[in-house]
Amino acid sequence: MPGTVVVSARGEQRVRTGHPWIYRADVVDVDAEAGTVVQVIGPRRRTIGYALFSDQSQIPIRMLTRGETAADLALFRARLERAIAYRAALAIDATAYRLVHAEADLLPSLVVDRYGDYLVVQALSQAIDRLLPELTALLVELMAPAGILARNDAKVRTLEGLEQRIDVLHGQVPEAVVVREGPVEYEADLRKGQKTGLFLDQRENREAAARYARGRLLDCFSYHGGFALRLARQCPEAAAIDISADAVARIRANAERNGVPHIDAREANVFDELRRLERAGARFDTIVLDPPAFAKNKASIPNALAGYKEINLRAMRLLAPGGCLVTCSCSYHVNEEMFAAMLHEASVDSRTPVTIVEKRMQGRDHPVLVGVPETYYLKCFILRRVE
Ligand code: SAH
Repeated sequence: MPGTVVVSARGEQRVRTGHPWIYRADVVDVDAEAGTVVQVIGPRRRTIGYALFSDQSQIPIRMLTRGETAADLALFRARLERAIAYRAALAIDATAYRLVHAEADLLPSLVVDRYGDYLVVQALSQAIDRLLPELTALLVELMAPAGILARNDAKVRTLEGLEQRIDVLHGQVPEAVVVREGPVEYEADLRKGQKTGLFLDQRENREAAARYARGRLLDCFSYHGGFALRLARQCPEAAAIDISADAVARIRANAERNGVPHIDAREANVFDELRRLERAGARFDTIVLDPPAFAKNKASIPNALAGYKEINLRAMRLLAPGGCLVTCSCSYHVNEEMFAAMLHEASVDSRTPVTIVEKRMQGRDHPVLVGVPETYYLKCFILRRVE
């Protein structure tokens, strides 16, 4: 018998409006073991559904089903199958992409990324962590990967009282895995790379940027060169900037591998570099800004917006008339409206008239669940400097 968790009327109402999370303040009574699938009961003793339960998180309940539908292994299998079938239907022109996007695949707190013959999973709640042996068996059965790696070193796991660790769950996982994204080949380090190795969520934005990129390219916050490698084949001059020496070494290696050795990869702070380039009177036809999340929580939104504005304002000044700016934010807390307002201010303050050519988000393998704003985190605007 599953344990039970009784929630308040407000908790029940939240689930009714389509959100899978119930916060700690709305949990009234717990008779369940940490990290198990529980029956969630409303204030009038009605079964609301079944959910993943954490005894330490601010989000103790993540709903899996509504009403009396049980959340057994058959349900997990069906949801994994659906998630996998959806990605297959997208006919993604890459060997690396997201197979399971947690809440948006109705598998809260579970991430599965595919890197060629290998899978990388992240278990971001107590219950998913405990289910890993079963989930691994299902993934082996459904995908027949050569190896499965658990990148359970994500910081959010500490909020669940879970340790940070990296384990091979199945088969073998080599130091370096070669994957392809469109025409670009990468060597990914699944153990040490950021996220699960690469920034897979930008794949379609790199493709979109390729529709406009030309002339002199400046790729800021380049990491392993995601945008630069895709765009350099159509840009005779290309520079890629990252603050990490490791990242810059990767960009150089990737540039050689992909026959675009003209990418000038530089280790620098983008804030300083943009200022320096402005003083030097530099001009670019294509600029990419893909910074890390500046706003990690609500309190840091004002500082984050100031940071976004500064880099966007400088990039607009550096842009040649007719040039294109691909500008991103992966801070969930800075929503699309705030991001657009910041771009407006940057345009006014830099006296640069720009048009919005495309408004984009994370790729379709990272879908947004309607009613769950937390699943819409990546904004990507493609702007054109008019004159
Ligand atoms: N554009 C990349 C992903 C960028 S991730 C892609 O498409 O794959 C953000 C990167 O910004 C990280 O590699 C990090 O090292 C770098 N970074 C963070 N702060 C920085 C700063 N102030 N200046 C330059 N790079 C920075």
